[in-house]
Amino acid sequence: MDIDGILKKYWGYDSFRPLQRDIIESVMSGHDTLGLMPTGGGKSITFQVPGLAFDSGLTIVVTPLISLMKDQVDNLRRRGIKAVMLNSGMTLRETRVAWERLSNGRARFLYVSPEKLRNKNFLDDLRRLELRLIVVDEAHCISQWGYDFRPSYLKIAELRKVHPEVPVLALTATATPMVAEDITKRLEFREGAQKFKMSFVRDNISYLVRYSENKTHDIAHILTRTEGSSIVYVRSRKKTREISEFLIACGISADYYHAGLSYEVKTERQNAWQSGQTRVIVATNAFGMGIDKPDVRVVVHADFPPSLEEYYQEAGRAGRDGRNSYAVLLASDGDKGILRRKLKQAFPSREDIRLIYERACNFMHLSIGEGFDRLVEFDFELFCETFHLQRQQALAAFHILSQAGYLEYIEETESNSRVVITVDRNELYNTGCSAEADSVLSCLLRLYPGLFSDYVVVNEGRISRESGLDRETVYNSLLELNRRKIIVYVPRRRTPFIHVSTSREESRYVEIGKSIYEKRFEVMSHRVESMIEYAFGERGCRVRRMLEYFGEENAQDCGKCDICRKGKKSTHHKTKEEMIRLVWEYMQMYPSGVTQLILERHFTPDDSLAAEALRFLVDEGFAVESHSIYRLREYDCN
Ligand code: ADP
Ligand code: MG
Repeated sequence: MDIDGILKKYWGYDSFRPLQRDIIESVMSGHDTLGLMPTGGGKSITFQVPGLAFDSGLTIVVTPLISLMKDQVDNLRRRGIKAVMLNSGMTLRETRVAWERLSNGRARFLYVSPEKLRNKNFLDDLRRLELRLIVVDEAHCISQWGYDFRPSYLKIAELRKVHPEVPVLALTATATPMVAEDITKRLEFREGAQKFKMSFVRDNISYLVRYSENKTHDIAHILTRTEGSSIVYVRSRKKTREISEFLIACGISADYYHAGLSYEVKTERQNAWQSGQTRVIVATNAFGMGIDKPDVRVVVHADFPPSLEEYYQEAGRAGRDGRNSYAVLLASDGDKGILRRKLKQAFPSREDIRLIYERACNFMHLSIGEGFDRLVEFDFELFCETFHLQRQQALAAFHILSQAGYLEYIEETESNSRVVITVDRNELYNTGCSAEADSVLSCLLRLYPGLFSDYVVVNEGRISRESGLDRETVYNSLLELNRRKIIVYVPRRRTPFIHVSTSREESRYVEIGKSIYEKRFEVMSHRVESMIEYAFGERGCRVRRMLEYFGEENAQDCGKCDICRKGKKSTHHKTKEEMIRLVWEYMQMYPSGVTQLILERHFTPDDSLAAEALRFLVDEGFAVESHSIYRLREYDCN
């Protein structure tokens, strides 16, 4: 089947979006390919369609977040496409089932987490499979200049060695030129590699910066004057609650969201917002991953994100449906300082880093010389609590340690609860369990088909509603069934990991090179300054400046940001006569005179018109100039 047919058959779409076809044709003719597309641009199709177009063989997809991996695999399966995944959060049994499917050659897609690639056995096993395409999703993770560097991504080069003839498709939404360059280098792109870049222009979004000394009030003000679903981003958990309460007091439907809330509460609030029951969600940047709500009208940032990449990403959640939307950044004079200070705080001293390393190793019960290539579950919150560490600082230390090659901290979102039935169907009639457990079991059978063949994601809340038993009873019943070996129940859990890259060193020998420490600081500070420049710089269209930062040449003025609007309004309405009057009035306020520069500044962006008006006043004798100071004649004492 041709690629258009595949798109229609499996997705029901009539046509490709811009660049999708180019990327697909490039990989299908065997070229290494870099695809740069903003979030929501439709990157997945660019490897899913060619993966199906090959008459046989496997497409392997490296992707960093286990939660997103699951979504994609489920999504493909729903369309009748055979896809499997392998990641370190899976049980042995799940892994075995996945390998069975791979070995019989029926799976078309294999999603793997990058740390899998560190495992030599895994790479050996891959050798035996017929591989057609290697996809690197979120490819910026391979670059140290990106904001999400994952050392394991560097191992993708090993994967290339195993199958040197197979083309690589790298995809990302982060596209500063430096990162793009780095991606192709580290993935060892071959001669003839192709690059496709979609414009990052989102022309239905108006980007506005508002100076605000009372942000909470201004948020309420903005939200009362607009309509529709909205997100307010702040950088502290406490503020999410405070602002949401204030909004509610103003009669605006709002709720708050951050990573510290329980899984249930988070899901509930996200759903309420998603369905439009709650209009405004006030959140930290924990809110957003995997959210695809088309009709978000306003995204307000009350605090600055630490880079334009993140700002673009978060603000870009507005207007997915193509309708007019707003991205508003609230800026106060303090923000520059806060951002720069945070950057410093996020940079612990080398001494602190060594200490945090030592503590993390102790926390994982590793002794000196132990731990090489081991993956250890790591309760980050408990770790910080135990050693009285600030989260930010510990995270920064882990980040630097991972660049220095000591360990890699893998932050994970929650994995869902899963159940598989391990006995034969006719053994279910006489389980010998409690009545509650039996009713939970029959509820499972009713709600979730397929429990006999593989793990199925289950929802305890749904079982509770369906069976009329309370949550705790449901939970205990599942445990009981598990104990009696009727099912395997894997309760939902948060599973951050640390991958220990090298055996534990004595901390005084932990080496953090200049290229990592100083260089990293430089890169981060460049990113922070770009964010500041976006907000406080006044030189021309904000969107154009942002696009230029993303390496877009020939970017046009957007005509919609606050700077463009200001420009338009004034040139539109002011004639020369009006300007002469305005300059006259302005000069009346300054009997001692003004300089041309001050005057022009005052009338920016109509500075040239103001200069012209000033010249007219002088030429016609209404104003005089001495020593570059201009006064109205009526104030001239000479
Ligand atoms: P990205 O990975 O670039 O953020 P996705 O691949 O998740 O984006 O795609 C975003 C959305 O766009 C998905 O809902 C997808 O089904 C949809 N989409 C992708 N390509 C097309 C197309 N050619 N026609 C219509 N919808 C598409
Ligand atoms: Mg994607």
